[in-house]
Amino acid sequence: MSGDIIDEVSRSDELMRDFNAICDTGGRFAGTGSEQRAQDYLASRLEELTGTPAQVSPVAYTGWSRGPAAIERKDGPDGALPCVSLVRSPPTPGDGLVADLIDLGRGTEADFQARADEVPGSIVLVRHEYMFATDTIHRRRKYQWAMDHGAAGFLIANPVPDAGPVTGSSGATPERGIPAAGISAEVADRLTGGEPSPVRLVIEADLAPRQTANLVLDLPGKTPEWVVLSAHIDGHHLAESAMDNATGLAATLAIAAAMAPHAHECARGLRVALFTVEEWALTGSQVYVDGLGEKERAAIALNLNLDTIAGSPNLTALTSAFPKLEAWLTARAEAHGFALGTHGPVMANSDHYNFARHGIPATRLVAGFNEPQSEIRHVLTPGDTRDRVNADHLRRATALAAALTLDACRAETLNLR
Ligand SMILES: [Zn+2]
Repeated sequence: MSGDIIDEVSRSDELMRDFNAICDTGGRFAGTGSEQRAQDYLASRLEELTGTPAQVSPVAYTGWSRGPAAIERKDGPDGALPCVSLVRSPPTPGDGLVADLIDLGRGTEADFQARADEVPGSIVLVRHEYMFATDTIHRRRKYQWAMDHGAAGFLIANPVPDAGPVTGSSGATPERGIPAAGISAEVADRLTGGEPSPVRLVIEADLAPRQTANLVLDLPGKTPEWVVLSAHIDGHHLAESAMDNATGLAATLAIAAAMAPHAHECARGLRVALFTVEEWALTGSQVYVDGLGEKERAAIALNLNLDTIAGSPNLTALTSAFPKLEAWLTARAEAHGFALGTHGPVMANSDHYNFARHGIPATRLVAGFNEPQSEIRHVLTPGDTRDRVNADHLRRATALAAALTLDACRAETLNLR
């Protein structure tokens, strides 16, 4: 059966049809009609493809609605320049936050320390980084440093020219946060060029409790153990969240369809988990994994998380400091004739992290690791569109994910802890 299943997913016409249909639902920003359209589409496809309806597993979270945002130099002729408030940024006062702008370059911890006496009360500017690399510093860490050093506001610039602004989560909570926005490389140049000038940042936003749902589908095997195959539903409003993460969703549907007739013959069952509010500091998977009992968590042999699996032909497994998992993935990929890189340290950059945090072997499959020139550099920008996804790359990534899923479900014993 193994050759059949891998073959079936890599030839499936439905893979690209589902990928395009998911992109058609829009950017899938949590709390919007676009997220809801995607959930409806995915729930109906899961049932159609497997004959089993998915459970709708509720997630309560602090919702946030994005209002208008703008930035300007106080002395400049430019007037209001475009910016995008980061997810959960608190609003500024109605007439804006006016403060000096401190350009900290990349915005490392050392950059903050070097200018520690200028930061209090100012708006700091740092640079967005290619997210999938060994030495990347996540935006939320820079935001924390800004707050720790007493900044009044936070700007993060896309370093890629002509590629628009960046977005993402700020890491603000209802208890602690400073206004935060993403800008383009060109707006950063306008704000920092010439004589230094204070800037005015205006952000409108609303916080309110909200409800959404993960979709969870169980295809039981012969024992109470599970392999959890996951992908996140939600994305950002700037484009259609095609690489991040229509690729992972479409692959998950294809694998669920191919596995459904065979799951009962396998040693452990396949659980498909489509999480949402991932782009909000991994909220959907956090609610799900935290909500499981000890025994239910112990029954999960592996979480294979598909997030951004095309945009480069090269795939890497982030193996969350589980050496046995790393060795197993490498051996299985090789046995099926796939090249697969690995990266050992824990990376809190997608839903696998919430499994790993609870001691469950968990890996994220990601394209373009340590390839800052790949299409993946457009993730979280207006450039995350379907034309950047090569169909053969997505087919190949899906086939590899199918092979790993199948082997994990079929292995007589699987101890990767
Ligand atoms: Zn993602």
